[in-house]
Amino acid sequence: MNRRDFLQATVLAGSALALPTDSLAAVLPGAKTKSVLVIGAGLSGLAAAYQLRQKGVQVTLLEARNRVGGRVFSHHPKDTEDLVIELGAEWVGASHERVIALCEEFNLELFNNQFDSHMIYGGQYQKAGSWDFSEDMDAFWKQLPDWWAKVSDKEKIRLDKMDWWRYLSLKGFGERDMDLRELLDSTDFGESIRNVSAFSALAEYAESSEKNEMDFKIKGGNSTLAEKLADAVGRNNIHLSHKVARVEQNKKGVTLTCEDGQSFSADKLICTTPTASLLKIDWQPALPNSSLEALHALQYARIGKFPVTFTERFWGVENFDCVTDGPAHYFYHGTKDQPGKEGVLISYATGDKADVLNAQTPERRLQLILDSLKPAFGDVSAYVKGDTKYYWGKDPYSMGAYAKYGVGQWFDVMPILKKNHGRVHFAGEHLADWQGFMEGAINSGEEAADAVVRG
Ligand SMILES: Cc1cc2nc3c(=O)[nH]c(=O)nc-3n(C[C@H](O)[C@H](O)[C@H](O)COP(=O)(O)OP(=O)(O)OC[C@H]3O[C@@H](n4cnc5c(N)ncnc54)[C@H](O)[C@@H]3O)c2cc1C
Repeated sequence: MNRRDFLQATVLAGSALALPTDSLAAVLPGAKTKSVLVIGAGLSGLAAAYQLRQKGVQVTLLEARNRVGGRVFSHHPKDTEDLVIELGAEWVGASHERVIALCEEFNLELFNNQFDSHMIYGGQYQKAGSWDFSEDMDAFWKQLPDWWAKVSDKEKIRLDKMDWWRYLSLKGFGERDMDLRELLDSTDFGESIRNVSAFSALAEYAESSEKNEMDFKIKGGNSTLAEKLADAVGRNNIHLSHKVARVEQNKKGVTLTCEDGQSFSADKLICTTPTASLLKIDWQPALPNSSLEALHALQYARIGKFPVTFTERFWGVENFDCVTDGPAHYFYHGTKDQPGKEGVLISYATGDKADVLNAQTPERRLQLILDSLKPAFGDVSAYVKGDTKYYWGKDPYSMGAYAKYGVGQWFDVMPILKKNHGRVHFAGEHLADWQGFMEGAINSGEEAADAVVRG
């Protein structure tokens, strides 16, 4: 049983909870769903809207930003030879079936975006292939998939009650192994592994592709998938710069009102916003206390991307990435295999490190990033052409990069957040088996589209 099957079984077991409350029973429709409002033009909302259009349902999609894509955000660095980098989602995983299928459908090319990791630890630079974990850690990692396949449901719930750092410490791994796991795994979860559910970490590592779903990227930028989906939904059905402020439902249907006073009505609604935005909407009738508690409990990871454009790719190999114990945290070559001499290294910092880098003046931030590279390449300031940043911890719509399921939250919080609120269904990365990925956003949008049509 993989994460999704297990979660669905758990939700079904508690299905009494999913029954509508009395006040909402009155607003549930008997008739076929002919029209649906979707909040959010990230991949989840776009995938939901596309699926609904294919089923002949009338769709109106409202997006607060002036662009589609949400946390998928391709960017052309200033004054470069047409290079493209990702300020949001970077990698498409080899197991991410829906992303891959949609790329095929829209004729988008996926290219290899795998890296071989270098390491800067304790002031020492070690090239890819010349550093490793201890033999014990290697052996533990190797047997994870087979062991995980045999772990009982009861044990999985128990593992969710512990954090990933504690779980590994109890196995007796030494300081270096623990430090390296913290540095590497916190890039996946976006926060220290002391704050991550052991269940969620084990499920991710035991069920992922060999390179941990860091396999491909879409040629021309990942945003091209969002653009293609938006074309398929129909641009006339998508309203950009429309921030939803209020959602009201009654016997006849659901009506939303945007900040500028415009309102739209339909039979049902799918809300795909991150929880920070969801909590700012005025829901009528109000969300139940259990949902509010779950919404307040879930935190999002603080990730900052701090790209630096260099006049030369002095790191030597296209598949360069480097984990460091410095403030810049993790570097990867953001323009791998793109033509030209210039290249972009992206400092990808998580948690407090991201907060600190974001808070610096541009000059001091650049200096901290360049200093982090010194053990490997010395002073590379002469190659700097420009820099930029995007800090997701302060993004006004998500207040974080993606949801971070902490201790006890995978089984206690997610099922509550997945429950409908009368005619309103919820979707988004935070509610998916492939949580934290584009694949999860698409899966959950498509599942919500299915559910609203089923009634
Ligand atoms: C730094 C970073 C790195 C990542 N790396 C990867 C990766 O390598 N691989 C991967 O697969 N995934 C990665 N992800 C995760 C991936 O980007 C997300 O899982 C996915 O894009 C989320 O899609 P979504 O539709 O659920 O949410 P979003 O993309 O956030 O879409 C929700 C939309 O709702 C809109 N909205 C919010 N409030 C309102 C309102 N009141 N009214 C109207 N609209 C509103 C928002 O503007 C947004 O466009 C990364 C994300 C970040 C930030």
